[in-house]
Amino acid sequence: MVCPGKGEKLELRDITLPAMKPTMVECEILYNGLCHTDIHMKDNDWGISNYPIVLGHEGVARVTRVGVGCDHLQVGDLVGITWCRDSCRKCDSCLAGRENICETGYQGTYLGPAAGCWGKDPHHEHGGCMSKVMRIEERFAIKLPENLRPEVACPLICGGGTVFEAVVDYVSSGKSVAIASIGGLGTAAIRFAKLFGGRVTALSRNESKREKSLLAGAHEFVACLGDADKMGELSGKFDVIIDTNPTNPDIGPYMGMLKFNGTYCKVGIPAANDMNFTYAWIPTIFT
Ligand SMILES: [Zn+2]
Ligand SMILES: [Zn+2]
Repeated sequence: MVCPGKGEKLELRDITLPAMKPTMVECEILYNGLCHTDIHMKDNDWGISNYPIVLGHEGVARVTRVGVGCDHLQVGDLVGITWCRDSCRKCDSCLAGRENICETGYQGTYLGPAAGCWGKDPHHEHGGCMSKVMRIEERFAIKLPENLRPEVACPLICGGGTVFEAVVDYVSSGKSVAIASIGGLGTAAIRFAKLFGGRVTALSRNESKREKSLLAGAHEFVACLGDADKMGELSGKFDVIIDTNPTNPDIGPYMGMLKFNGTYCKVGIPAANDMNFTYAWIPTIFT
C-alpha cells in the first residue's frame, strides 16, 4: 500500500524493492500493526515525510530469503520489523544495543531525505511493512518466538517497546508507579509495570478507562487528569510516573504527585505544533 502524497488515501501499487545485499533478508509480511506515527507520517505532521511512501513499522514477517553474509536467521524464521532498518553499529550507543540513539542517526524503516540523518539512505518508496514483501538488514529483523501470536506481537514492536524501555529503566519491585493516560501505550505500560513488581495506579481524565485499566492489571484507577485539585489529592504518592499522553499538559501537578527523588518519564511524541516542552523551575527544586 502506497501513500502517494500528503494526507492522500493509500493505494495498492507495485513497488520496486531495494537491491538485495549480502547482509539482508527478504521477508513476507504476515501482519502489521497501525501506529499513530504512521498517521502523522501520512499527513506529514512533522515535516519529515517523503512521498510516495510505504508506511508500517509494526510488522510480523516470515523470512523467505537470506543473503550470503547473514549469520543467524534462516528461511522460515518469524521476525518482527520495527521503526529502524539499519544503524552504524560502531558507535557507543549501537554497541550498547541502543541503536535508536545511534550517534550518526539510525536509518528509519521508511524515512527519506526530509528526515535528515535518519533518512540518508532513502527508503520511503518501498520501506514500510504495509507491503507483501520487504528487504531489510538481518540485524534489524528481530527473531520472534513461534508461539507469540501476531496480534499480540505487532503492538509490542513499537508502542510496547516505547513504554517497555521506561519500565525497565525506572520500575522495580515495590515501587509506587502511576501510568498516566490509558491508550495503547498506557495499557501496555500497566502490564509491564506490574510484571516488574510495581504497585500500579492508572490515571485518566474520566471513568471511561477504569474497566480497561483494571483488566490490564492496575491495582488502582483514579480519574483525575486535567483537574489540578484531584491531582493534588495524590500529592507525594508515586516513585515513578510514566506519562503516555501525546500532548504537552501542564506538568506541574504531575511533579506534585511524585515522592522526593521521584521520576517523571514522558513517552509519546506530540504533533509538530505542540513541540515546546516548558516547565517552571521552582517545583523541581522543592519536590
Ligand atoms: Zn551507531
Ligand atoms: Zn510507532
